[in-house]
Amino acid sequence: AERTLVLVKPDGVSRGLSGKILARVEAKGYRLIDLSLVSATREKLEAHYAEHVGKPFYEPLVEFMLSGPIVAAVFEGERVIEGFRSLAGATEPTTAAPGTIRGDFGRDWGLKVQQNLVHGSDSVESAEKEIGIWFS
Ligand code: ATP
Repeated sequence: AERTLVLVKPDGVSRGLSGKILARVEAKGYRLIDLSLVSATREKLEAHYAEHVGKPFYEPLVEFMLSGPIVAAVFEGERVIEGFRSLAGATEPTTAAPGTIRGDFGRDWGLKVQQNLVHGSDSVESAEKEIGIWFS
């Protein structure tokens, strides 16, 4: 079955939303198959965000992702990649649709990076790569 990597980013963990976020994914019907509380490293982030290296928000993104623990999870199910991204909502939390994780729990904090609570893989190839980075 299809798998995706979900990260609860440091803002989600520090605000005490990890359980709520994971519960929403489980409630939609996806199966939790791996789970870990981890600290990111620059090395892991460079691999994870390879396509963003050099962009203006890359360094603030790395600092943000290093600012506290992260919850890494693997979920499984039919079309889970699309399903989780739909549940997460649009990148910008201020305008993400209500009912989504970012729309319900997130907002803009006036920083150089979107602190948008979660990450979800965007393709089967990225999921495979990202699961390898966070669960090695
Ligand atoms: P994710 O991949 O985290 O699920 P996404 O696919 O919506 O979200 P990406 O385009 O992959 O976002 O960007 C990765 C992360 O970098 C975003 O989740 C956000 O935290 C941050 N980010 C992306 N674009 C911007 C931007 N223009 N300004 C500030 N931060 C940004």
